[in-house]
Amino acid sequence: MLEWCKLTLNERCDHVEIDAKTQSLCLLGHPVAHSFSPKIHNHMSESLKLNYVYTAHDVEPVNLKAAVEGLKALGYRGANVTVPHKSAVIEHLDEISEEAAIIGAVNTILSEGGRLKGFNTDCYGFERMLQDEGVHLSRKHVLILGAGGAARAVVAACILGGAERIGVCSRQIDSARAYVDVFKGGSDPNIAWEAITYEDLDPGKALDYDLVVNCTPLGMHPNEGVAPIDPSIFSKDTVLVDLIYNPELTEFLRIGRERGMKVVGGLGMLIHQALKAYEIWTGRSKDADFVKMALKK
Ligand code: NAP
Repeated sequence: MLEWCKLTLNERCDHVEIDAKTQSLCLLGHPVAHSFSPKIHNHMSESLKLNYVYTAHDVEPVNLKAAVEGLKALGYRGANVTVPHKSAVIEHLDEISEEAAIIGAVNTILSEGGRLKGFNTDCYGFERMLQDEGVHLSRKHVLILGAGGAARAVVAACILGGAERIGVCSRQIDSARAYVDVFKGGSDPNIAWEAITYEDLDPGKALDYDLVVNCTPLGMHPNEGVAPIDPSIFSKDTVLVDLIYNPELTEFLRIGRERGMKVVGGLGMLIHQALKAYEIWTGRSKDADFVKMALKK
């Protein structure tokens, strides 16, 4: 036991000097045990020699208000927010950024001058992931599968990136319509909106999408062998994007790649949203390759 303690303490000292000046960052979610965020952010602090520590807190919805108040009371520098708290957290913050207001969700909190400000870096992460792959949204026809939380950041990126047509596909037509209505009102009137269900994705119809983005959890570890739809119904020129990053190549992308389509997995989005959050807290950042290496360790 003593040996174990010594080793652990020495290991910690080699990395981040945790002392009375250490600033705290954390993740608030439920569950959080699967999260890569502690690994990413603690590696960033070690590498940049910044005195921060990042921990993950499993917060039940009933405790969210107390947890957010706790950030202020304990002098945390900031936090990430994940499922299921991204929208619910807003009412407990002092202000939110413009993207967070468009998306209706916060994934990053900065505590400064006694005030908590919410940001959404998922939209930025999605744009940067596409940019790294040479994919642009301007004048594109985009189909989004699944009308959930993550899809909102993708819709916001499509609006801000100048997409010409945005389709939302849900299992329930009412959900797709309600989703589209929320965004339609405040966006460029030249954008063509489409609310559909999976039954409308008939291979007999003209499915002229430039980009199809899986925003459902279908295909995510440990249920890896499934896809939301068969991507073979789209033209070979359609780019397939999956927000899932575990596994890196989902069934949806695997089928598309086998058919010769360009495919983009969600790891780049995870990395870029994390880099942006770290920059908001510390003013410092690293490049995407550094985070990729950190995740492989
Ligand atoms: P979510 O809210 O739980 O689900 C998204 C939507 O998927 C649901 O609203 C639902 O839409 C659809 N869906 C759920 N179960 C389904 C099923 N069995 N069959 C068909 N559709 C189903 O999840 P989320 O937070 O939006 O996240 C979605 C995915 O994105 C997750 O895999 C998550 O890991 C990933 N993600 C990745 C990043 C990244 O950085 N790469 C960031 C955020 C999220 P309808 O009811 O409209 O059909």
